[in-house]
Amino acid sequence: MKEERKSMLIVISGPSGVGKGTIYNRLLDNDPSLTFSVSVTTRGPRNGETDGVDYFFISEEKYQELVAQDAFLEHATVHGHSYGTLKSQIQEKMEKGYNVVLDIDPQGAKQVMAQWPECVSIFLLPPSYQKLRERLYGRNTDDPKEIEHRLNNARGEIEQVGMYQYTVVNDDLELAFEQVSAIITAEKQRTNRYFPVVE
Ligand code: ADP
Ligand code: 5GP
Repeated sequence: MKEERKSMLIVISGPSGVGKGTIYNRLLDNDPSLTFSVSVTTRGPRNGETDGVDYFFISEEKYQELVAQDAFLEHATVHGHSYGTLKSQIQEKMEKGYNVVLDIDPQGAKQVMAQWPECVSIFLLPPSYQKLRERLYGRNTDDPKEIEHRLNNARGEIEQVGMYQYTVVNDDLELAFEQVSAIITAEKQRTNRYFPVVE
C-alpha cells in the first residue's frame, strides 16, 4: 500500500537522572524511523560522551554567536549551563523523513510547544526523590556538587509536568519503555500525520 507520513517532533523531558537517555536510546535502537536531535551545550563532556553524537560541546562565546544568528529553535540555561536545539538539526532530519527526539528541559519544551503545537510531549517522573538521588549517584558521571544542584532543580521541573501531553513514571524500566513506545506507536497513526492511499 502506498502511504505518506509527516515527521513528528517528540519532546522528552524529566529531571536529571530520571532515565531519559536510557529510554530514548532504547527507542532509537528499536525504531529506525527515530533519530536524535543533537543539542549544543557549554557544559564539558562526561566520560564516554562524544562531540557531535551526544552534544556539540561549544564555548560560551560560540553559543552567544549562535543566539545572535537566531540558530536555535529553543535555548535555555539549565543547571548553570547553556543548552540549545539547532534549527538546522531539526530541518535536516525532518527533510530525511525521520521522527526527531528532543531531550530538553521544561523551559525549552515550552518554547518548542509554542512554535510547534503538533509536537508530542512526554514527561518522565521518578518513583521518588530518593530513587532519583540514588540514580544520579549510581550513574557516577557528575560530582556531588553538580548532583545536588540537579536534585535541587528537580522539584521545580516536576511542577511543570502539567504542560506535557503524557506522563510516564520510570520505576520499572520495562514498563516505562513499553509505555513510551506505545505513545509513539499511537501518535504515528494520527490522521494528521499518516496518509495511506487505498487503491
Ligand atoms: P537522564 O538521561 O534522565 O539524566 P539516565 O538515562 O542517564 O538519566 O539514567 C540515570 C541512571 O539511572 C542511569 O545509571 C540508568 O542506568 C539508571 N536508570 C534508568 N532507568 C532506571 C530504572 N527504571 N530503574 C533503575 N535505574 C534506572
Ligand atoms: P545533561 O547535562 O544531563 O546532559 O542535561 C541536563 C538537562 O539539560 C536535561 O534536563 C536535558 O533535558 C536538558 N537539555 C539537553 N539539551 C537541551 C537543549 O538543547 N535545550 C534545552 N532547553 N535543554 C536541554
